[in-house]
Amino acid sequence: MSLIIVGSLALDTIEAPTGSVAEVPGGSSSYCSIAASYFTHPNIVGVVGNDFPDSVVTLFKDHQINLEGMTVEEGKTFRWGGRYADNFDDRTTLFTELNVFETFNPILPAVYKNAAYVLLANIHPVLQHHVLDQLEVESFVVLDTMNLWIDTALDDLLTLIKRVNMLVINDEEARMLTQERNYKKAASKLHAMGPEWVVIKKGQHGALLFHDDQIFSVPGLVLDEVKDPTGAGDTFVGALIGYLDQSKDHSFDNMKLAVVFGSVLASFCVQDFSVDGITYLEESDLEARYDEFVIISQF
Ligand code: AMP
Repeated sequence: MSLIIVGSLALDTIEAPTGSVAEVPGGSSSYCSIAASYFTHPNIVGVVGNDFPDSVVTLFKDHQINLEGMTVEEGKTFRWGGRYADNFDDRTTLFTELNVFETFNPILPAVYKNAAYVLLANIHPVLQHHVLDQLEVESFVVLDTMNLWIDTALDDLLTLIKRVNMLVINDEEARMLTQERNYKKAASKLHAMGPEWVVIKKGQHGALLFHDDQIFSVPGLVLDEVKDPTGAGDTFVGALIGYLDQSKDHSFDNMKLAVVFGSVLASFCVQDFSVDGITYLEESDLEARYDEFVIISQF
């Protein structure tokens, strides 16, 4: 067992300037695991209701995602709705219906407990602690979080951050956690909280990787069209850890590539609604997009 991903499985309703969709596949785990599947066979832990569409289960299986840790409970799947402003940067949450997710208690199947890589995708920090408590080996742990937990579960989040190897966070969340606007100072404060690797995502403007005194900057690709930015962050971190699991190399140079492949998958994600932009991609699609990142960064 090498990579486990613990996060939300949802049906999303999205309103964007480019159109609207209802009850489409979403949740942090869906994006993370599909993105990771281009590099490895991820194993997910999550919960859905008995209304979760068979077509999504098929989609996961097509991407060779192991569903042994996904439980199906009597009731409705977690639902989330969001609306984007014209600039796509501002998003309003329209509703959050926890449903079966409200009592989610992530239990790792025995074979998951020796995973080399663990992605704690967006769920409550107490549940993320619970996942780490069940591990029987020293895994490489990547943590993704969101502003909601900084606002409502800060103490649990801070003790959790101490336990992870890599923190992946967006610029606004980094500011909230450190009170720093300067990326370098923010990263240094985040390192001091525990993780030796820090990634600050800057949305359409790319991402920064920090380790010791080394910094790497990956640009945002200038795309022809953005349709739906939902899940771009999850896709980024899913591809990043998937690439690490495939390469098993924690050198700074390889981490740079992991961040680039995170950006490659995220750039596909935003080009379509829900997970549509990241399903059934060919290796040649990834290679062509990778080359675009090389071209835009070279001088
Ligand atoms: P992002 O665009 O990276 O913020 O991720 C959006 C995804 O997060 C959507 O597919 C939602 O279903 C999911 N989501 C929204 N709120 C929560 C929450 N409180 N806990 C877990 N997942 C959530």
